[in-house]
Amino acid sequence: MNVYRNYINGQWLESASEKTALNINPADVRDIIGTVKFSTRGEARGAVEAAYNAFKDWKNTPAPTRGKIVARFARLLEGDQENLARMLTREEGKTLAESRGELQRSINVAEFCAGEARRLNGETIQSELSANFAYTIKEPHGVVAVITPWNFPVAIPVWKIAPALVAGNTVVFKPAEATPATAVRICELFEAAGIPKGVLNLILGAGAEVGDEIINHAAVKAISFTGSTATGIKLYEQAARRGAKVQCEMGGKNPVVVMKDCDLDLAAESTVSGAFGSTGQRCTATSRAVVVDQIADEFVRKIIEKAEQMRIGDGADSTTEMGPMVDEKQFRNVLKYIDIGREDGAELLTGGRRAPGENLENGYFIEPTVFDRVTSDMRIAQEEIFGPVLSILRVKDFDEAMLVANDSQYGLTSSIFTDDPNLIFRFVHEIETGMTHINSPTTGGEAHIPFGGVKMTGIGAREQGSTALDFYTELKVVYVDYTGRKREGNLY
Ligand code: NAD
Repeated sequence: MNVYRNYINGQWLESASEKTALNINPADVRDIIGTVKFSTRGEARGAVEAAYNAFKDWKNTPAPTRGKIVARFARLLEGDQENLARMLTREEGKTLAESRGELQRSINVAEFCAGEARRLNGETIQSELSANFAYTIKEPHGVVAVITPWNFPVAIPVWKIAPALVAGNTVVFKPAEATPATAVRICELFEAAGIPKGVLNLILGAGAEVGDEIINHAAVKAISFTGSTATGIKLYEQAARRGAKVQCEMGGKNPVVVMKDCDLDLAAESTVSGAFGSTGQRCTATSRAVVVDQIADEFVRKIIEKAEQMRIGDGADSTTEMGPMVDEKQFRNVLKYIDIGREDGAELLTGGRRAPGENLENGYFIEPTVFDRVTSDMRIAQEEIFGPVLSILRVKDFDEAMLVANDSQYGLTSSIFTDDPNLIFRFVHEIETGMTHINSPTTGGEAHIPFGGVKMTGIGAREQGSTALDFYTELKVVYVDYTGRKREGNLY
């Protein structure tokens, strides 16, 4: 049995902990992939200390040299793409096509960040005083904690670790409990790329223990977290007490607004792919369709037709369009929300139960589920379900659509389907989300384009793109007086 090990100070170490969990293929629970040991708080402190001790040398390593290691990692990731994609599907459940896409995004991000190592520029600034000038330098924080969820277990760690390293920080990486295999592989590839010992450390274990230990450790100067809003806000409170920098990307409840003048087939197809792609287990998933009354019946008919045609199964099968829930906890949670939707009076149009069928009985499969006549006050319209459940909210016009779309504590992404340019610009102006899409699904992003949300979804600098390194650097301002005498003027 494969027992996953921690990677601390350049060594692969098995945890001494007695607490373990099995890593199980969610498409077939008889397929045991390995055993994860829940590391101790002491081992977590060891990982932080290794990162702390490695920081000075890494900071003093020229940024382009740091970038070369990240570039080598990108090439190794490319060489390992198919292997890692299959590992990801087996561990997390998404389809192989989705896993390959996630790997491609990760390669793109690593390439982008490697290039940023040659652009770690500050600015020179003219002073008010003669024979004086000022400039800025971007410097690393020190030890950065990277805490990640299970739903994009390759891409999210890469889009945090790569910029953190390029900026000159050392890293303690704490992946989600459910996805240890992919986390180990990422670190193996960084090791093969030549990362010096202690610069990147992996600690496997429970969020409430090793995660808690890391975020409260005085040597950890910054924390980049992606996960649920409940965990993120708690972490933010704790880190604030000791002044640590925090970046949190959290939950979503992403709306698509469907207007009467749109291409209805395109809107339905995009909504189905946004709602049920990755089994609805992505932060950018479409969970609310806000539809004007005039076309609602026809839109709903098209959605149901497409949802019922989806092929559910093991992601490793090339014909599968939707895989399982990641684990039993998520499986039960989604079924619980389906019950809540029924109890709150929403109209269940399709799905709503464990998916029946040959070869599905040993996995955590749920049918694509659509509720109609959902109202904004219902829990299924407000709370993140994180599964293949779409709520249809009917509205009379654009103004009501905007009220409903914005009636959420979350603000990650959104989209609108309309051919009216005035409505498009009004939508972009009024929608309260960090990202938005016009006539395309709520999902998707690119390595060189910033990513993140507002309201209870996002705290701190945006990830990726031109802002990828913002969170991982401090700005130092330098004043140089080259008069050689006492300052004559005053600076206020
Ligand atoms: P989660 O909050 O349960 O866990 C995320 C990580 O935090 C895990 O590694 C976990 O072990 C750790 N953790 C848990 N408790 C902790 C604590 N007390 N201290 C420190 N660390 C702790 O989230 P999840 O279920 O793994 O992921 C799903 C969530 O992630 C969804 O809400 C989804 O929307 C969100 N997500 C957001 C984005 C985004 O960019 N906005 C992207 C992907 C996923």
